[in-house]
Amino acid sequence: MGELIALRGCLSKMAIDPGSGDRPARYMLRAGEHRLDLNARLGQTLHLRHTGAIACTHCGRPTRKSFAQGYCYPCFKRLAQCDTCIVKPELCHYHAGTCREPEWGERHCFQPHVVYLANSSGLKVGITRRTQLPTRWLDQGAIQALPILEVDTRQQSGFVEMLFKEQVADRTNWRAMLKGEVAPLDLRTERDRLLASLAPGLANLRERFGSDALRLLDAEPVSFTYPVLEAPTKVVSHNFDKNPVVAGTLLGLKGQYLMLDTGVINLRKFTGYEAEVA
Ligand SMILES: [Zn+2]
Repeated sequence: MGELIALRGCLSKMAIDPGSGDRPARYMLRAGEHRLDLNARLGQTLHLRHTGAIACTHCGRPTRKSFAQGYCYPCFKRLAQCDTCIVKPELCHYHAGTCREPEWGERHCFQPHVVYLANSSGLKVGITRRTQLPTRWLDQGAIQALPILEVDTRQQSGFVEMLFKEQVADRTNWRAMLKGEVAPLDLRTERDRLLASLAPGLANLRERFGSDALRLLDAEPVSFTYPVLEAPTKVVSHNFDKNPVVAGTLLGLKGQYLMLDTGVINLRKFTGYEAEVA
């Protein structure tokens, strides 16, 4: 490790700056209060060691196991952000009076949401709050994205997404995303095709939520490039739960993955894991 001094802290998901033009996204590893410019480490060795400690990303208490990518069990069972309806917004149960944290729900779910198309491992549909863009796309390793509709609530975005899922994937095939074998798409053409073929379903949703509830967006597609020296041809994953040491030459950064010559690791999955990084 030479003269490098190890940083020590609990891992958070990497901070990604979108870059612009031909300039690739910029990645910052976050360990506690420490930041490490990962773009500057491309082609060099990177050494991470999980100390065995895990701290809940919400309450900070130590936990033996991480739930839902970073929470202790009590937080996982108690927080609205860990409820099933966050992953499946169509199951929102606020109106039944059973929201785990109604105020949190009002702040996060009763806010405009964007339905977008992205190209991460092929065409996919997704939803997010506007404030989460473009972070959400970068976290998924998307090379292209296009916002297509805006709606008033998270639940409405869930209904729109369910409709699109009849014709488009809603998940990223992360192995394909990392291998980089993803052909560019004309997202505006894809949007127009989908809006036409899903018109009856969209009309039903407008009837249910009001004629101005689903607003078409006329946005420009955006594209991203990632700092990758060499994409893996065979994707092998590192896992701190099985081996506390993850080391190798840093070959690339895409989505929330570090690509090392020894394998890849999804750092988001290990949010809250204390690590030494050198
Ligand atoms: Zn907790």
